[in-house]
Amino acid sequence: MPLNPRPEPFSTFVVGSLPRPQWVRDVIMDRKGGQISYEAADRELDSAVPSAIRLQERAGLDYLSDGEWRRESYVKVFTEHVSGFELDRMAQRIGNLADPVVTDKIEQTGDIAVDAAGFLRRETDRKTIVAVPSPYILGWRMWREDLSSGAYPTREEFMEACIPILRAEIAKLAAIGIDHIQIDEPWLLEMADPNHRERLGVDDLAYEIDLCVRTVNAALEGSGGIETSMHLCHGHFDRIRATEGGYEPIIEALGDINVGRFAMEFAAPQSHGIESLSLFPSGKVLGLGVIDHCDSVVETPDVVVERAEAALKYVDAKNMTINPDCGFSPGAQNPMDLDEAYVKLTAMCEGAAILRERHGTG
Ligand SMILES: [Zn+2]
Repeated sequence: MPLNPRPEPFSTFVVGSLPRPQWVRDVIMDRKGGQISYEAADRELDSAVPSAIRLQERAGLDYLSDGEWRRESYVKVFTEHVSGFELDRMAQRIGNLADPVVTDKIEQTGDIAVDAAGFLRRETDRKTIVAVPSPYILGWRMWREDLSSGAYPTREEFMEACIPILRAEIAKLAAIGIDHIQIDEPWLLEMADPNHRERLGVDDLAYEIDLCVRTVNAALEGSGGIETSMHLCHGHFDRIRATEGGYEPIIEALGDINVGRFAMEFAAPQSHGIESLSLFPSGKVLGLGVIDHCDSVVETPDVVVERAEAALKYVDAKNMTINPDCGFSPGAQNPMDLDEAYVKLTAMCEGAAILRERHGTG
């Protein structure tokens, strides 16, 4: 596989989502409830999304998204245009939310992320980032033995069925000129938390790591010429993270994943410091999480610089990019503050400008 191209050092990225205004959340829920069609919802959201894009331009981001304002959540977006699911059947672990569960053979009924990405591409001259969920997290979030085994006897078979759909989506995103494609994979870091594994009845972490690496790489086949990343975090809802623990159990395996960059949560106290970066695979680009979205205290540019310079002990400046720990609202129901996200992103971008100046790359 050809090497993935690399972003410029200290480039600033969002991880994906921005908090959605209440009226946007209402549109999404009306669409889900069938009160309005997808087409009618899109017409309304076409008015909202440009403001999410302008917000990120104002904040100074190099790579920006559409705020994911059209999605109910970063994983549910998969089921909005793929049939075979019963919605809201799977109890969630945080936030009293429910996931869809696969109950029939899956079939794609429309573009998952491509339509929204095309709108984003036309709306900005900046670089663009679009995320798709990993097959591994889809398998864990949407396959349940009692409800799913008629369609897919094992979780792994369901993951396999998701792969060609995701692979085709990634190829289309590249073809329409999206600059950076991110695989959302918080589940792998969550699996590193023994309490999370116990809740799920998982006793073989090595098997899970291997399954994640294999399925993500399968989805990425053919993506060698484009910028790609994988996002890891502890998950969050209403400013509470779902799991706890450092990257040590999984970080070396990241070297086997065929993305160029890893956007990782490090401002969070739950990440237990940055020392695990001593094991960060050489040759990969770090997306250093410097903004704690769960903390309502707004970071200053100096704090951003301080966090990045601490990480420079482990990762070269040429391999470092800057991002918040996570999307600010990976799910539409996540009650976060849009203005707070804006000022945090602004501080992040100001900090990155100082880093570029100070470390001779800008
Ligand atoms: Zn995240």
